[in-house]
Amino acid sequence: MFSWPTNYDSCYTLAGVISREGIGLHSGEKTRVTISSYEKEGYYVSFRDKPNEIFELTQDLIGSTMLCTAVKLGGRNLYTIEHLLSAMAGCGLSYIHIEVDGKEIPLLDGSAIQWVRAFEDVGIKKAPKPNNFFQEINKSIILNKEDSVIVASPSEKITIISTISFPYKAIGNQTYVVDLNPKCFVEMIAPARTFGFKDQFQELRELGLIKGGSLENALVCDGDGWVNPPLRFDDEPIRHKILDLIGDLALVGLPKAQILVYKGSHSLNALLASSLKN
Ligand SMILES: [Zn+2]
Repeated sequence: MFSWPTNYDSCYTLAGVISREGIGLHSGEKTRVTISSYEKEGYYVSFRDKPNEIFELTQDLIGSTMLCTAVKLGGRNLYTIEHLLSAMAGCGLSYIHIEVDGKEIPLLDGSAIQWVRAFEDVGIKKAPKPNNFFQEINKSIILNKEDSVIVASPSEKITIISTISFPYKAIGNQTYVVDLNPKCFVEMIAPARTFGFKDQFQELRELGLIKGGSLENALVCDGDGWVNPPLRFDDEPIRHKILDLIGDLALVGLPKAQILVYKGSHSLNALLASSLKN
């Protein structure tokens, strides 16, 4: 039985090669990703048709689309990278090469758990001590966007306290607190699926967006309840918000901080990521 570390004292990479195939959220087309260890710290991407062009994923390549996180690599976009990034950072993995056959990372079940299971299939091995896996901060940072706010205060361990508030009975007010480490990420955060709203879902489908979106890869809320229960946790939505936050901070390094988020979103997370980078 595979057991994940209970701290981030060491950094790891994959002990073998994994490959997963699935539908891309945007295109609805099948896309395949092959992941292995790499000699340099960080996350590196190449496309199957140009194997010698290898790009390092960095925060300044990130462009947010309305629906997912994308990076521009050598003139083309790679979509929907956020849950894979979260899986790697949350599990304490770096020194990674990702080869993509397609233009998207497959959405799989809308959470990070299938990436985690894939990592477990081949196992992990210790990697050299990284320089950028964490960000040390020496003062508190407070950022807001409309009525949402994110605060990061220096701390020895990484603690995330996140709250959401939706005017729908199915979600309502949810708060989750986690002292982050790989084991805890895998058990408490990684299985939480992305969620959306029925009206919005139909609208986006009619616009020809989210061609690959389905009841298999997102929890869909219709106000009072869920279209596709059961939930994996009663508070699955707030746990997914934390999953997204970890993915959004992965390229600048997880801050050694106590992070408090109210009404988190990718754009709020991006504000913190860019202020950590500077
Ligand atoms: Zn997400």
